[in-house]
Amino acid sequence: MARKFQNFINGKWVDAKSGKTFENRNPAHWDEVIGTFPKSGAEDVEEAVRCARKAFETWRLVPAPKRGDIMRAVGDLMVARKEDLAQMMTREMGKVLTETRGDVQEGIDTAYYASSEGRRLFGHTVPSELPNKFNMAMRVPIGVAGIITPWNFPMAIPTWKIFPALLCGNTVVFKPASDTPATATALVEILTAAGVPPGVVNIVHGGGGEVGNAIVGHPDVDLVSFTGSTLVGKKILEMAAATLKRVSLELGGKNAQMVMPDANMELALEGVLWGAFGTTGQRCTATSRLLLHEKIHDTLVEMLVRRVNSLRLGDGLKEGVDVGPCVNESQQQTVQSYVEIGIKEGATLVAGGAVPREPDLAHGWFYRPTVFTDVLPHHRIAKEEIFGPVLSVLKFRTLDEGIRIMNDTIYGLSSSVYTTNINDAYTAIRDIKAGITYINAPTIGAEAHMPFGGVKQTGNGHREGGWAVYDFFSEWKTVYVDYSGGLQRAQIDNYES
Ligand code: NAP
Repeated sequence: MARKFQNFINGKWVDAKSGKTFENRNPAHWDEVIGTFPKSGAEDVEEAVRCARKAFETWRLVPAPKRGDIMRAVGDLMVARKEDLAQMMTREMGKVLTETRGDVQEGIDTAYYASSEGRRLFGHTVPSELPNKFNMAMRVPIGVAGIITPWNFPMAIPTWKIFPALLCGNTVVFKPASDTPATATALVEILTAAGVPPGVVNIVHGGGGEVGNAIVGHPDVDLVSFTGSTLVGKKILEMAAATLKRVSLELGGKNAQMVMPDANMELALEGVLWGAFGTTGQRCTATSRLLLHEKIHDTLVEMLVRRVNSLRLGDGLKEGVDVGPCVNESQQQTVQSYVEIGIKEGATLVAGGAVPREPDLAHGWFYRPTVFTDVLPHHRIAKEEIFGPVLSVLKFRTLDEGIRIMNDTIYGLSSSVYTTNINDAYTAIRDIKAGITYINAPTIGAEAHMPFGGVKQTGNGHREGGWAVYDFFSEWKTVYVDYSGGLQRAQIDNYES
């Protein structure tokens, strides 16, 4: 029988107040139910926010190194459970085991980074313009953080947000994606087992329209950290304006890998296979466009098609599988509709382009890895995020033209250039409009201790990862201590003519 999951509010596992539930199924075998989850509403969010607000008053006073100790225990527990978490994640959202192990590892790295940050959280001491006066700026907690996450990195993305939020002294109300609630529940179990007190982390399962909206609109939620589609991100920003809360948005991408004629072709091929079809193309940083210099275009396309046709589709739990299913039926249909759009636009389908018909794939949301050539910069398949195993190949003649095509998108998350020419590499680093640029590596491969995020409609200027995310989850408090014993007037007493 499928496991019954619950919300976690104020240290207790509870059902939705309405008693309603929803099911979560394995995308590789949709007849397998992973579990039933509470279909919560605004009243459950209300309760979670009330408890998080109360818990904030004690959690904010726990010394940051002590909060860091809890983060270290979280990391240790994740190490101990790495394999079982990875298996659960593969069953829940489909990506292959090597990748779900990597997803958990990113959470572990983030926990240990947060643990060490507990003994840093550096502020500044700055000289005063007046004598016998001491100036400093320090980081203080903000309050209740609403955390809303997508399904494609069910462990890594929640940890990127929740661990720095907690380390900085905030409390959390967490709404995970409806497609990956079991992995999110495991994360909350681990946080609790590591010693996070009741009310400090709360999880409320349910739909974006109900639970997500209620979190964003709640006047007692001080900040919202959201990762998901650009469409929903815009709605969140509009809604948050009513209470002027702090919002961090990590949104869509239309990432490109560009290959110059002097590049190592084998390396570029391995890069694009991993970048375009890893996680079934369902990464915000997935390689969705391949820009090939005209001199090597035909050769690389031939090499690519051969390899794409030999990628093995299947259940990500099975040894030897390269590409898992799409996360759900609607995502599979989106992919199919973009393939039809590509054909109508006049691009040439050179690999994939169909739902597989093999009997062992018949009960999953699989789609064949797909490649289009003759794609032009104005085609929709060159411009819009597809979020599936579809690669659009475009041709360019010069570095400048390649960069122009690369930048011709509303998004700006990741980018990649394969070249052995150092001048071209640095020109590309300077001119590509993206938050991340890789040289001789694919568009995917972020490391937990580096800033992560994008420009243009990929976000609103914040970064996750590394030291940068701590700016979002803490507030600067500026302090002046005057020990002169007299009234000293800044800008005036020092400058009297
Ligand atoms: P999504 O549909 O925008 O959903 C993301 C989260 O928002 C889910 O928890 C969803 O809940 C919730 N949500 C939906 N509507 C909402 C609303 N009106 N108010 C508040 N919350 C709402 O995105 P997705 O399909 O899960 O993820 C794919 C997208 O995420 C892609 O565009 C991808 O590029 C982007 N992404 C970006 C990054 C990055 O760092 N830049 C990383 C990963 C993914 P339900 O699940 O219940 O609908």
